[in-house]
Amino acid sequence: MGRPPKPLEQREKTGRSKGRDSGGRPLPEVVVELPQASGVPEVPGTLRTADRATECPFLPRDAGEDDEADGPPGCDICARELAVLAWTSLWTNGGSWLSLQRDGRILERLCRAYDEEAHLQRALHEDGPWVAGQRGGLVAHPAVTMLRVLQDRITKWEGLCGFNPSDGGRLGVKVGRVGEKSTLEQLLERRAAGRGAPTRRAQRPAARKRAAKSD
Ligand SMILES: [Zn+2]
Repeated sequence: MGRPPKPLEQREKTGRSKGRDSGGRPLPEVVVELPQASGVPEVPGTLRTADRATECPFLPRDAGEDDEADGPPGCDICARELAVLAWTSLWTNGGSWLSLQRDGRILERLCRAYDEEAHLQRALHEDGPWVAGQRGGLVAHPAVTMLRVLQDRITKWEGLCGFNPSDGGRLGVKVGRVGEKSTLEQLLERRAAGRGAPTRRAQRPAARKRAAKSD
């Protein structure tokens, strides 16, 4: 496995000239080719919602007997609907490059993973990192390993959907300066202007015109 690629914005900054990296190699063109989702797609039914907080598999079996919590019965993490919030947030932030057809299933898994992560972190927080081993002594809480595996997956899925710097660069997503229109917005504006009337929904294949410049 080689070095992970540098983020696009970084390669652009150190580039020799516009559209080239420091070694003079052309940078990937910033394009979006798949149809975007319009707004936040319908929340998948697999994401845990507050109305199912009493069915949470992470609830201790004897929950409710102590009645020490004053809140409504059920799991307070489920009640926060983290997966649903994540779904909304991911589609809001990544709406310009995400496609329901391509990314929907991974994002669904990613949102469920955030929810599971919060549950495991709570278990770890409440129990501490050590639990009694079967043969006496202390062993690491099982949630430690589970969290590590889960967080690796989260990072991978975030990357696949363009939510980390290097993978975002590969997808042609970069961070613009504050107050400046993103490259993507500028690109879309230029394309719309080039076509004459700005069409809202037309999904014509993007014509890649190359300016015939003599270098
Ligand atoms: Zn729960």
